[in-house]
Amino acid sequence: MIDTEPIQIHKTDKSRLPEIDFDDLKFGRVFSDHMFSMEYRDGKWQQPEIVPYDSLTLSPAASVIHYSQTIFEGMKAYKNEDGRVAMFRPEQNIKRMNRSAERMCMPHIPEDIFMEGLSELLKLDSGWIPPGESASLYIRPLLFATDEYIGIRPSDNYRFLIMTTPVNAYYSNPVKVKIERKYTRAVEGGTGYAKTGGNYARSLYPAKLAHDQGFDQLLWTDAKTHEYIEESGTMNVMFVVDGKLLTPSLGETVLDGITRRSVLELARDMGVEIEERRIRVSEIIEAMKENRVEEAFGCGTAAVIAQIAAIGDGDDLYELPPVEGRKISKKFEKYFRDLKKLRIEDKFNWMVELTEQ
Ligand SMILES: *Cc1c(COP(=O)(O)O)cnc(C)c1O
Repeated sequence: MIDTEPIQIHKTDKSRLPEIDFDDLKFGRVFSDHMFSMEYRDGKWQQPEIVPYDSLTLSPAASVIHYSQTIFEGMKAYKNEDGRVAMFRPEQNIKRMNRSAERMCMPHIPEDIFMEGLSELLKLDSGWIPPGESASLYIRPLLFATDEYIGIRPSDNYRFLIMTTPVNAYYSNPVKVKIERKYTRAVEGGTGYAKTGGNYARSLYPAKLAHDQGFDQLLWTDAKTHEYIEESGTMNVMFVVDGKLLTPSLGETVLDGITRRSVLELARDMGVEIEERRIRVSEIIEAMKENRVEEAFGCGTAAVIAQIAAIGDGDDLYELPPVEGRKISKKFEKYFRDLKKLRIEDKFNWMVELTEQ
């Protein structure tokens, strides 16, 4: 193993940073100067490196392009008013990436190298972390199969990358979601709990149909009966009904979101009553008809808290109460904003601050 070898750093000789306008960022379109890169070959991880962000050379036979043996993560780093930089619970993303790796027959990524790669990359590209109130640096770790072989079996060779992209708020307005009663994202025994490419590929078509009907996102239901709510595309989902916080329980078909987990810990700490269980679509629809759904929102790294303005089911559209009056989720939003900008005490120890060099 190479955990004693330091990361080799090859700096770019021409930063693209001067060309970037932090006030006009399109999500996931611009990438910072460097990326972390490490290959898996001969049964072990090779020299970790940080190199200028650039295109890759890949065999047309590379198994990832044919059979989707690929996993990713999504996390964020923040810069506060004093220029201090911190990541939100990165160790959780590292652990989850390794759970995804196991499901997809991919090699375990050593946690210490992963963490060191993140820190070194952020130090080198700290100028790329936008300081704005709702801005951050989105971090995208990626692991994929590179065998030059058109046969179906787990690859022998892999590439692990970490790239970063400066972003602003993901959604500027509350979202409209459609309850999906026909198509399926994940099924028992499948890969729903892993962050793997195929899960997203299969959701493009139903999501496109929903977009054409004016919705921003889908609200997935269980594959067998389409009667239970699971999650929303790239976010977990929560409701406040009669003052209680409701969220579908986890299982193989729901991604174990770090934002979801954090919201639940925070809610518990605030004394909010929580119900984490199977939730019937009909239960939520009944409650919406009786005006008992006080709040509905998605939670995930990209949007953090994405307020849901309306929920569609078949031909019916249910409007939810105005966002301004949503006491509970507004408290979560404020807590996360203040925490990520290091303005309040970090009582759960969620922030990992970058130490000065
Ligand atoms: C990443 C993701 C989430 C949210 O997870 P976070 O760790 O909170 O970012 C929820 N659902 C799916 C399907 C996801 O891919």
